[in-house]
Amino acid sequence: MQREELANIIFPEVTKTIADYEAMYPERKLEENARVTRFAPSPTGFMHIGHFMPCLIDFCLARQSKGVFYLRNEDTDTSRTVEGAVEYIRSILDAYGLYPDEYEYRDSNETKGSYGPYIQSERKEIYQTFIKHLVREGKAYPCFLTKEEMDAIREGQAKDKRRIGIYGRYAKYRDLPVEEAIEKIKKGEAYTIRLKSTGDFNRKFKFNDLVNGEMEFPENDIDIPIMKSKDGLPTYHFAHLVDDHLMHTTHVVRGQEWISSVPVHFELFKTFGFKMPKYIHIPLILKKDGESVRKISKRLDPEAKMTYYEEKGYPTMAVIEAIMTIINSNYEAWREGHLDAHFTEFEFSPKKMSSSGALFDLDKLDNISKNYISRLKKEEVYEGVLAWSKKYDQEFATILEQYKDYSMAIYNIEREQKKPRKDYTYYSEIKSKTWYMYDEYFQDITYDFGEFKKEDVKEILTTYWKDYYKEEDDQETWFSKIKELCTKLGFATDMKAYKANPENYKGSIVDVTNFIRIALTTLTTTPNLYDIMQILGKERVEKRIENL
Ligand code: GLU
Repeated sequence: MQREELANIIFPEVTKTIADYEAMYPERKLEENARVTRFAPSPTGFMHIGHFMPCLIDFCLARQSKGVFYLRNEDTDTSRTVEGAVEYIRSILDAYGLYPDEYEYRDSNETKGSYGPYIQSERKEIYQTFIKHLVREGKAYPCFLTKEEMDAIREGQAKDKRRIGIYGRYAKYRDLPVEEAIEKIKKGEAYTIRLKSTGDFNRKFKFNDLVNGEMEFPENDIDIPIMKSKDGLPTYHFAHLVDDHLMHTTHVVRGQEWISSVPVHFELFKTFGFKMPKYIHIPLILKKDGESVRKISKRLDPEAKMTYYEEKGYPTMAVIEAIMTIINSNYEAWREGHLDAHFTEFEFSPKKMSSSGALFDLDKLDNISKNYISRLKKEEVYEGVLAWSKKYDQEFATILEQYKDYSMAIYNIEREQKKPRKDYTYYSEIKSKTWYMYDEYFQDITYDFGEFKKEDVKEILTTYWKDYYKEEDDQETWFSKIKELCTKLGFATDMKAYKANPENYKGSIVDVTNFIRIALTTLTTTPNLYDIMQILGKERVEKRIENL
């Protein structure tokens, strides 16, 4: 048979069959309804929030159903592959705790799972087996169109306002007699392999997307390339078909930009008679821009890249929480009733995704993050800020390590109470909110006492230090002593009386506590002053008042 000869000329080394591979990768033994999902990034060197969101959904679906979540490195487009990209993706998955059950990390030589290789460039022979089968069956053919010819076709189609692509009369080599094709290959002419589409653009088919519901598409009639000439690697469309089939993926979660590929994928699965996985085409991530709403953009919006959250030092769980709220509209209500539950306990439902777009709001993330940090234990805050500083502010990291208990005491101010204080939104701002507690930063200070003279303030503070301050006082005693000091020096302790006749006083108790606060921190607003003084301790308090 000539087609057999053609298939052997193109793939002389391919000896296995599809059945061989199907036997090597049998059905997974999982509970009924277990979901097998995959995160399938292309190693382009960065991670967009639009990649992270489907990944989070993949993870939830698998965990909720006792399924499998695996990582597949889609590196068939070698011109876009960036060194170290997978390691970077891994660092993100690790940081967020989205550990895949199956994976392959080439650099560290780590692999897990029996459905690999999980790196597409290592699966060339598998893809070629499937392509060889199609060539043998006459369902795919070598196409010898040159780049120049294809450019001319595209330009002509654009000019005539026709659909772009190799179909109908543009598919010049579709019906080339097999012996001629063999001849051309023997002569060394370059070719790609194209699918011999059997679709009709004027016929429609129905497709059920789990987010968008039933959709109708025209059939694909384009002879899409399935194998590139350059390196014998398949195109994305073909690789995803083979991989999701052999790896037994049940749900494909991917961006809306892939919806337009559905007709091609539908035809590919039909050609082989394989069952299609279920598709969850997730909505675009949108952001408010002034009065309008637009798609989040990696060029315009720093928050589109996952590095943004790391650099700012948002706790990873806060980022997950914020994204979960845009994944499913009922997530927030669920969270309110399940404060301590892990996010994977929430039952994700594709039906509850908005098909029109998911609005991501940084203010909301800030709010979630602030609440989240306020509920952490002081040790957790310390670990968080230390980890962040080690990466982004080594000097502060050294200080934190030197003053571990001291720093934790700072984070503990007004923490262990019903409504904890919400001081910190992300780890990168903790230094700017606590710097004054460290002598290393409390240098070259300027003080601003407003309308009060520094000399008078000095006198008040000296009296306070000499006659009233006692480190061992409890908060109540501490406060009654400040009141005594006020009375003695002519400052009002009763704010009502003060407001009625301010001229009778030098100032009020608010001014006096502020003098102390400013002397110790330079600031007029801080967390509880008594706590601050307790943590600073006698020696520092004395030094700072003296310094003033
Ligand atoms: N490699 C594709 C991408 O990074 C994955 C699409 C899919 O999940 O099928 O966009």
